[in-house]
Amino acid sequence: MASRPLAVVVLLCTLPALAQSPAASEEPKGNVRFSADMLDKSIDPCVNFYNYACSRWKAQNPIPGDHPGWGRFNELQERGEYMVRDMLQKYSADDPHRSGTEQKIGDYYQSCMDESAIESAGARPLENELKAINDLKSKQDLAKAAVRLQREGAAVLFSFSSDQDFKDATQVIAEADQGGMGLPDREYYVKTDAKSVELRHQYVQHVQKMFELLGDSSAKAAAEAKTVMKIETSLAKAALDLTSRRDPTKVYHKMAVKDLATLSPSFNWTGYLQGIGAPLTESLNVTEPEFFKQMSQAVKKTSLSDWKTYLRWQLVHATAPMLPSKFVNENFNFFDKTLSGTKEIPPRWKRCVRFASGDLGEAIGQKYVDLTFGAEGKERTLKMVQLLEKALSQDIDGLDWMGPETKKQAQVKLAAIGNRIGYPDKWRNYSSLDIVRGDALGNSLRANEFEFQRQLNKIGKPVDKNDWPYPPMTVNATYNAQLNNITFPAGILQPPFYDKQADDAMNFGGIGAVIGHELTHGFDDEGSQFDSQGNLRNWWTEQDKKEFESRTKCVADQYSGYPAVADLKVNGKLTLGENVADNGGMRIAYMALLSSIAGAEPVPVDDLTAEQRFFLGWANVWCQNRTDEFARMLVTVDPHSPGEWRVNGAVSNMPEFRQAYHCKADAPMVRQNECRVW
Ligand SMILES: [Zn+2]
Repeated sequence: MASRPLAVVVLLCTLPALAQSPAASEEPKGNVRFSADMLDKSIDPCVNFYNYACSRWKAQNPIPGDHPGWGRFNELQERGEYMVRDMLQKYSADDPHRSGTEQKIGDYYQSCMDESAIESAGARPLENELKAINDLKSKQDLAKAAVRLQREGAAVLFSFSSDQDFKDATQVIAEADQGGMGLPDREYYVKTDAKSVELRHQYVQHVQKMFELLGDSSAKAAAEAKTVMKIETSLAKAALDLTSRRDPTKVYHKMAVKDLATLSPSFNWTGYLQGIGAPLTESLNVTEPEFFKQMSQAVKKTSLSDWKTYLRWQLVHATAPMLPSKFVNENFNFFDKTLSGTKEIPPRWKRCVRFASGDLGEAIGQKYVDLTFGAEGKERTLKMVQLLEKALSQDIDGLDWMGPETKKQAQVKLAAIGNRIGYPDKWRNYSSLDIVRGDALGNSLRANEFEFQRQLNKIGKPVDKNDWPYPPMTVNATYNAQLNNITFPAGILQPPFYDKQADDAMNFGGIGAVIGHELTHGFDDEGSQFDSQGNLRNWWTEQDKKEFESRTKCVADQYSGYPAVADLKVNGKLTLGENVADNGGMRIAYMALLSSIAGAEPVPVDDLTAEQRFFLGWANVWCQNRTDEFARMLVTVDPHSPGEWRVNGAVSNMPEFRQAYHCKADAPMVRQNECRVW
């Protein structure tokens, strides 16, 4: 659950990889529905609520070998993957009666699953791409290579796409952003602690091996890997850190195209913009001018031959999952095993389900929705959203630190929030995307180009609020500050988040608090800088802004004290927006529950009162296990806190929690200086 713009949307398994699996599970793991048997009654909820709610689940649910972590989200996600697999298998037979959509999703999956064809083709599918790199004649031609490779999905030099204009939300403009690195974030290149130095060493070894797999000698490949590291490090040093990127003013620099060319003179911008496929435009957002200045320096200082090395690496890195198993395994060994602690590669079908879902998400999603989510699901969720919106409105009215002027603006913003529930009103049209049976890599490259072009086609057109950022089977939810709307896909509107068989208290603590979480993103440290129309505009009085900042500082300090993994603590500033949203979401979901109960005390279920069950509804969705490697990665790149702190951090700020569980004033789950924003 991440907010847009600027924040990274972190799913729980983001790094794809391929090859065979020794131990493919044939059944989805875990029991998704909550039961009181999950509670560890030997633990006092006032001492450690997370352990009371989750320690039994954690003991009974070790991390499966093919995952870097395992939580309630993953259980649900995996169920969805089994369902999608069965559907894709059904359409993968070469049947002339299939519809256009069925042909695309079926043939994509069939091609991806056909390992023997992929093995026998070897690296041949890359030949044209490698030749195009080899044929570059001058550094001016780097623009041509960037066009070709970026369109195909390789992260070369920087990233280019479209975005709403931060200051005029009705307009979609072109945007150039930092990029070009193989490691997950700039911090991996610049941190000086022993673990980071070791990871960089292992990364260079990995890059070397990939060059060897392309046929280069060990000595040549070793030198090439060093070149790649040198170029990527220069880009990383010029890039802005993730915490700074949460500040919209730091990533909004709209300028004339000719000024970008002046700022970054060694890169051929004219050639790039003519080739990239964007409508002609006079201006664009250059998120971080300093990055492009330094990138230009790197272009100037680095030889053409070294650039060719870098481009070859980015190409093989981007395409590895669709190449023969030696590439797949080497890619897995570094990115999943070394970096995230995953022990074994996921079975091929899972990887192909994920690639198909990434490349043809709404084609698959349309069928998934037919199977799982009816119109009544949409209606029920919408009703809950309305209750949460009402609670947030009452909460804003009652704030003692916010003045009437800002309150009025906050109410306008809240009333304008759009709700997207379940699935899009109109499905994406994939008819111009060719999916060819037997061409796994080609399908993937064409799908990347299709998506790249689809994003560029938005430039200069009115914003399409029906365009969803991810397919409906996704187990996630988001708030988008520029659209001022929330998105709740069908994938998350299921147990344990929402359970038709559970009582209101559990559901308000689960999906209710998640809805509240997303709504309050509109009012977190980042979202609060955008107005009701999605424009970056201050609507706060100076005094109220100060009050807001001192309250969010309390939250940042609180979470900065929590350990994430052995030697690392949570980054309270990077996770601030999410922590504010967790705390606010819980509070308004609790208010909504009380108003839906309307004074009548419901009968306890499993000897637990409605109030107690509400907090369990929240804790239950965050039960999780993570490898140390994965926890280490997330503390750097994930704007969310670990599950333990999403639970204990939020409940320990709530007097309602201590009342529900009759905690003593000095209990560990009772914070002495509790933080409260919303
Ligand atoms: Zn969030």
